[in-house]
Amino acid sequence: MDAIGNTPVVRLGRLFPGYDVVAKLEYMNPGGSIKDRMVRHMLKSLPAGTDRVVESSSGNTGAALAMASAVLGLRCDVTVPQTTSIEKIKRIRAYGAEVHLCAPDDGVDTAAGYQAVAERLAQGDNVHHLDQYRSALNREAHYRDTGPELWRQLAGEIDVFVCGIGSGGTISGIGRYLKEQKRDLVVLGVEPRNSAYRKLVTDTPADGAFASVVEGVGKRQPSSSFDPAIVDDVVQVADDDALDWCRRLAAEEGILAGGSSGCVTAGIARLLPRLAGKRVATVFPDSGVYYLSKYF
Ligand code: PMP
Repeated sequence: MDAIGNTPVVRLGRLFPGYDVVAKLEYMNPGGSIKDRMVRHMLKSLPAGTDRVVESSSGNTGAALAMASAVLGLRCDVTVPQTTSIEKIKRIRAYGAEVHLCAPDDGVDTAAGYQAVAERLAQGDNVHHLDQYRSALNREAHYRDTGPELWRQLAGEIDVFVCGIGSGGTISGIGRYLKEQKRDLVVLGVEPRNSAYRKLVTDTPADGAFASVVEGVGKRQPSSSFDPAIVDDVVQVADDDALDWCRRLAAEEGILAGGSSGCVTAGIARLLPRLAGKRVATVFPDSGVYYLSKYF
């Protein structure tokens, strides 16, 4: 668990020549994603006597929790949408956790959705539900850990923070920390088309139903882990663009990252006119290895 964090920051000099764009490679965490940090933080306040943990996840929180459960000797149940990549499901099972496949949506408002199923599984004694979509500990993990680490690594040289939005914990926690260090820093969110967060920030309504094949980012209904007060603007990108940029990251930068990293990179490409002369930082939450049979 102490090996979590201290992930490298690299420049995207080939994709964005003439700009100063850097990415923090969160797939270098031992459980394979940025979610290791949140799970570690949440388990610090695990109620005494807990012997089983439950969480709904697009896959990465589940893997992080399954890894931690192996270390701590806990039983672990993870609910995921059926559309979750097979590599992510197998990865959770490899740590000894049980995976529950749920409805193929973003889990918000149906009884068969992965959030509702997790709530039902968490009934009973000595069971703890982490609840990343509602727990204040989600963004607090990034406020206390990821944000300060990024600030230190960049020696404070950052003007714009661009970040994908799933639960909203990463952008809200890192964004708040960075803005406290530098008042005029700009925080920009990126999400798939017709996801719910842009409306919260810009009041621009969606022009269709939310449906995205990019895992980890985008929601039909916003999660309360997202803090709209921290985010200055949100752009939406088409799945095709997200996956194009994901493949380009691998083939041109040598960075094999997941679809949400492609999504945020597509957002940066769209925002480039606003980024000239600025130091721009983002995070790449997970690895492309988990999507080899899906996007590559
Ligand atoms: N990308 C991936 C691959 C993820 O698993 C997640 C977490 N759902 C995110 C991005 C978004 O992070 P957050 O939940 O903190 O908004």
